[in-house]
Amino acid sequence: MKRSLIVSKFGGTSMGDIHAMDRSATISIERNSSVVVVSATSGTTDKLISVAKLASAGNTKECEKLVFGIKERHQAMINELPKNHMGLEILSSYFTELDLLVQNITLLKELTPKAHDHILSLGERMSSLIFSEVLKNKIPNKSVVLLDARSVIKTDSNFGKATPLIADIAKKCEQLKTDTIYVTQGFIGSDAEGNTTVLGRGGSDYSAALFAEGFNATVLEIWTDVAGIATTDPRLCPAARIIHEISYAEAAEMAQYGAKILHPATIAPAVRKSIPVFVGSTFEKNLPGTWIKKDVENRPAVRAITKRAHQALLTISNPNMLNAYGFMGEIFDLFGKHRISVDCVTTSEICIAVTVDQPTLDNQKFMTDLESVGKIDVETGFSLISLIGNDLFGQASLAKSIFSSVGEASIRMMSLGASSYNFNFLVKEEESNVCIQRLHKSLIEGMK
Ligand code: ASP
Ligand code: MG
Repeated sequence: MKRSLIVSKFGGTSMGDIHAMDRSATISIERNSSVVVVSATSGTTDKLISVAKLASAGNTKECEKLVFGIKERHQAMINELPKNHMGLEILSSYFTELDLLVQNITLLKELTPKAHDHILSLGERMSSLIFSEVLKNKIPNKSVVLLDARSVIKTDSNFGKATPLIADIAKKCEQLKTDTIYVTQGFIGSDAEGNTTVLGRGGSDYSAALFAEGFNATVLEIWTDVAGIATTDPRLCPAARIIHEISYAEAAEMAQYGAKILHPATIAPAVRKSIPVFVGSTFEKNLPGTWIKKDVENRPAVRAITKRAHQALLTISNPNMLNAYGFMGEIFDLFGKHRISVDCVTTSEICIAVTVDQPTLDNQKFMTDLESVGKIDVETGFSLISLIGNDLFGQASLAKSIFSSVGEASIRMMSLGASSYNFNFLVKEEESNVCIQRLHKSLIEGMK
């Protein structure tokens, strides 16, 4: 049998202040976690992004104010702990590093992607340092080590959204001790030259999954501020309920198509090693939460409804492609080259329609490249609604229920047929909430 090894990840609100850290530490002790992966304290990554921007714009005053606030918050947190010279020294070295980075960016009036990632890494490095002190104080007889995730999570050099190098990570994990509790950072890694990289916003979940994979963990726990994955956004539908068990395939579709609770890449490492994933709330730790597993007993036709807002529809057409080939290949190559993921596609002989997140339209290089392949029509202001469930191809009456629930709203595009777990359709943003409420009522609330 596999030796039990638990990787637990705590998000920003679970690191929010010293009390939240204390609660999270208690949970990690109760759960017997061997590797604890933490996010930056809530709001800190956003602040660090602003710091970097302000510094490069030469807005020294505002920048200093923000830096002061960040330092003050973390200093106050560590001050609440029994005095520890080592911890204080490390924290103050992080402050110096932040000051140096800000000075350099201000001086050069240039913010390189490399400097950006480096500055962001300080959020997780500060929170993990303080959290490791909290944990050490609670379990003085155990060996608690603050591990620099950059020495384990090896990535390529695509700053801002680096791709992890799975084989390298596995090798690094092998070198770690098994009788130690590691506290480490989510979100950050390093490339072959040792430059700091980040995995993209919300990437701490992904880091935790990579650690779980590297350590061949028995369980991956994601501790957050909501009590699990819900059937839809409860702010939209108060009748939404927590899903107690869901398959990897369904959870991956949910994360990809807008459920904010997990970073979309989190599931893949868990799937590769068949590691069950638990999602629960640090504020309500005794609730059952959600288990994401390979096989689940209950497989409803429609499990959940998600929404991905701010979608644009790009329709690319090229009449020369009538009876020709290679058109789609060229288009997908461009998406690949610019590292833009294709979410939803429909095609005709000379046209292809693709949804993208609206900010993609600001990527000038990508748009120019795309124009070289064909004429592009851009429509904006959509939301992509996804019904996530099981065997969606075989549900005879499903289409009827969907169309009657959608009512008057006009569907601009839809996609069913690739994955039996997902039915996507695109509606105008202003019509999306009502659609979801109606769909939830008829397809989820009414069902057992
Ligand atoms: N701190 C990072 C962010 O806010 C990563 C994370 O929290 O998952 O995006
Ligand atoms: Mg998160």
